[in-house]
Amino acid sequence: MVPLATIRKIEGICAKFIWHGGIHAISWEQLCRPRKEGGVGLRSLVSVRETAGIKLAWRFLQGDSLWSAWMTSRYLRGRNFWVCEIDNNYSVSFKHILRNRPVLRTAMRRRMREGGETDLWLDPWISGQSLLEILGPQRDGVAYRGLTCRHIIRGGVWRPEEYRFTAPLGEEIRRVRITPTALSDVWIWAPPGRSEGAGEFRFSSCYDLVRPHSDDMEEYDFVWGKGLARKMQLSAYKLVLGRLLTRDRLLRFGVSVPDPKCVLCEIDNESIGHLFFQCHVAWSIWTEQSRRHLGGVGRERDFREILKWIGDCRDKEQSWARRARLRLAASVWHVWRERNRHIYEGLSTPLVGILHNIESDVLVMSP
Ligand SMILES: [Zn+2]
Repeated sequence: MVPLATIRKIEGICAKFIWHGGIHAISWEQLCRPRKEGGVGLRSLVSVRETAGIKLAWRFLQGDSLWSAWMTSRYLRGRNFWVCEIDNNYSVSFKHILRNRPVLRTAMRRRMREGGETDLWLDPWISGQSLLEILGPQRDGVAYRGLTCRHIIRGGVWRPEEYRFTAPLGEEIRRVRITPTALSDVWIWAPPGRSEGAGEFRFSSCYDLVRPHSDDMEEYDFVWGKGLARKMQLSAYKLVLGRLLTRDRLLRFGVSVPDPKCVLCEIDNESIGHLFFQCHVAWSIWTEQSRRHLGGVGRERDFREILKWIGDCRDKEQSWARRARLRLAASVWHVWRERNRHIYEGLSTPLVGILHNIESDVLVMSP
């Protein structure tokens, strides 16, 4: 098992590589989310490491290897896996396995056969919980040690009433399916919201379970939706996350800029809000083509508001919304490109030229 500090160091090197050693415009954690959650779908090594640890725990719980038998006899010595305390003398990997118990509870289910291998009181076989957790410690505590589920199964059917488990607990128990065969009870892989078929461990579903989650956002459709040219994706992505390095942000990062003013209009200071589309130059780029091709421009001079306006135009067909998004993305990209040409090459394109370039880009992207 690779130490966490090493993993974080490797991730730091990857991030540095992506940003060429400059400012990390988007955090590594953010990049590691799926696209619909605002990332680019990179694998988080921290989560990969966690997934590998859970896979190890899963293999241990299968109990069908010499390694698992050896670990059981060496460390557990008759104690229950689910309730035993972590002992300092345990090996690093066994401690790691035990620390993963909370995830294992949510991601695994007991395939019950005759009940002979399932601890009636201590194993979490009722929706990830044990009887001890549901009922609390009993007065005759000693009596339930070593009992298995076989005690309340007769002829492949649950008989919870034989052990004073009445409704509603009895009903809950009956909901646990019994697979009538002579084989042993086993833990199967069954993470919530997934149908995993045979119950075999799946790296992808486990990774999905342990990685950090965030809400899906419609705006990410704008970035990763069908048809958008590759060259436009990164700036659109940074724009949606508010991470484009405009002059106001550079100043905040302590980078010296010759002039905080917007190079397109030379009136107001440059910020994301100004450049897209408070700036009259950028605004005329958008309005010129939007009036002509989309029959409107949106209510506010703000990128997000325009995006919302496109989404709200429910009376228009889907293809209209798609064309409108592509046109918006093209405008944004050309505004950003024009700004960069000004700053880095000292060049400027007349408005008609920019509009012409947008038209040819839109033509290529349109279905
Ligand atoms: Zn401006």
